[in-house]
Amino acid sequence: MRPVTRFAPSPTGYIHMGHVSHMLYVWGLADILGGEVLLRIEDHDRQRCRREYETALLEDMEWLGFQPANKVSATASQYRQSDSWKVYAEALRTLASDGHVYRCVCTRRTLARYKRPPDRGEARYPGLCRDAGHPESMSHGLRLAWDHDAPPESFRDGLLGRQAQRPERQCGDLLLRDRLGQWTYQFAVTVDDIRHGVDFVVRGDDLLPSTGRQLRLARMLGGLEPPQYFHHPLVRDKAGVKLSKKQRSPSIRELRMAGVTPATALGEAARAVGLVREALPIVPRDASQLIERAHGGALRSRCAAASAPAGDCSLQRRSLPPTA
Ligand SMILES: [Zn+2]
Repeated sequence: MRPVTRFAPSPTGYIHMGHVSHMLYVWGLADILGGEVLLRIEDHDRQRCRREYETALLEDMEWLGFQPANKVSATASQYRQSDSWKVYAEALRTLASDGHVYRCVCTRRTLARYKRPPDRGEARYPGLCRDAGHPESMSHGLRLAWDHDAPPESFRDGLLGRQAQRPERQCGDLLLRDRLGQWTYQFAVTVDDIRHGVDFVVRGDDLLPSTGRQLRLARMLGGLEPPQYFHHPLVRDKAGVKLSKKQRSPSIRELRMAGVTPATALGEAARAVGLVREALPIVPRDASQLIERAHGGALRSRCAAASAPAGDCSLQRRSLPPTA
């Protein structure tokens, strides 16, 4: 069976260059590893996601020439988070039956008082409700109580090398469902990666700190084999800030309307993320070669399963001879 990865956008706006660079990495690494790409619509946040953006995303992907291995139907689909409420509820029951889940009544305002200054990393939930035993009648979110004596989560990123993370120190007890009853990104994505049989995850390096908590959560949910992770650079502006939909970077839709061709947009995306120096027109299948060229050394030394110690890389590159 071919190894599986996923392209998992949130339809909160039209896609821009940052998404296209990410697609080059997802499809390029899938080619290198002989894998296939599932499309998953991550619309767990019902406040911000809109169906019209999902439709636009599918059109833009087709225009760019990226084809996922699955189809996400317009009616209910297991690849759309908003259609998967029951799956998350079932996963929650698994955690709750082991006594790991508690009610948290903290508001944003309460938590803002405990926020760390920006230079000290992400805000850590201080565990205010962990032993409070709040009744169900109060408006509440649900959190996962980490084991504070657990060893750090160690893994070898396919592009960044050896990592060790302590979720209980980074983010504190993990929010699984918010006070509005919405599943959180961390919870939904972990459940999805297990149920969709994801073997390797390709994503921007801004999500590197999420990996330890997702690995630990996956184990608690009974996930058998952790995925291999590849965290790639992001497209950043001149000030080093991640290109996002909130900023005024032109959408792919706008570029299309301005007469830009897919090959030109892809070439520009490759340049923007540092895969090439000069933006020359390319097609999606060129991505693997560009990644090999830009990261070849890292990929070879960290992901050559033939020589890596057990657990370092569960995947074999297509071009490597099979292990004895
Ligand atoms: Zn709380």
